[in-house]
Amino acid sequence: MTKTAACNLILLGPPGAGKGTQARMLEEKFGLVQLSTGDLLRAAVAAGTEAGKQAKSVMEAGGLVSDEIVIAILRDRLAEPDCAAGVILDGFPRTPVQAAALDDLMGTIDSAINAAISLEVDDAAMVERVAGRYTCAGCGEGYHDSFKTPATAGACDKCGGTEFKRRADDNAETVSERLAAYHAQTAPLIAFYDDKGILQRVDAMGDIDVIATELGTIVQKIVA
Ligand code: ADP
Ligand code: ADP
Ligand code: ZN
Repeated sequence: MTKTAACNLILLGPPGAGKGTQARMLEEKFGLVQLSTGDLLRAAVAAGTEAGKQAKSVMEAGGLVSDEIVIAILRDRLAEPDCAAGVILDGFPRTPVQAAALDDLMGTIDSAINAAISLEVDDAAMVERVAGRYTCAGCGEGYHDSFKTPATAGACDKCGGTEFKRRADDNAETVSERLAAYHAQTAPLIAFYDDKGILQRVDAMGDIDVIATELGTIVQKIVA
């Protein structure tokens, strides 16, 4: 395969940092494909696959699913043709082993990661963000009880759907486990990508639209 001008991004950040929210906006704006390992794992749990069965209890407890399972799921998804245009990795890699596997995977498809964007937020804000999070059951659009409510109460802005859902692991106890896992296993990746010269830090405590503009500027420079 020949090298294309595909733009491949990593969004790094703790639970609630806004990775999913921003990934969806970048997907629309730049035609990139959002790859959320959390979404892929939740789909595997719902489908009752072998990987899903193994992941379920780990996810409920707020731990990290094994590198082996997550890498296999990501590898399969990355091989699908739509990913050739460029991907936004949301929630992957989360460990140094996953980061090394990603380098290998990108090498095999003669591609590379263009930027790793670290969404920088305070731990204290994360609990509030995660506790108020819900999504449209129809299209997956993300909302928040206080910070992002639909324009018309009870109806999704994107698809008009009226059914919404909350994640089982979005509760205060599990969030502290997830934050601990982030600091122990994922935060070291910030230095890993800084050493590679592709790290971009973004203050993710501000308004969703302000952050989106900042990310848009970063991505625009890559795709230009
Ligand atoms: P992540 O994918 O990093 O876990 P999400 O994108 O799902 O985070 O965001 C977590 C929650 O916080 C969602 O309910 C979302 O609507 C809300 N949110 C996202 N970004 C912001 C922001 N900049 N300010 C306030 N709330 C936000
Ligand atoms: P958030 O962005 O709010 O942390 P995700 O949807 O990315 O949530 O992940 C939910 C859960 O799925 C994690 O707590 C973890 O158990 C599992 N998970 C998702 N991605 C990975 C990954 N790359 N490695 C290991 N576990 C993962
Ligand atoms: Zn919707």
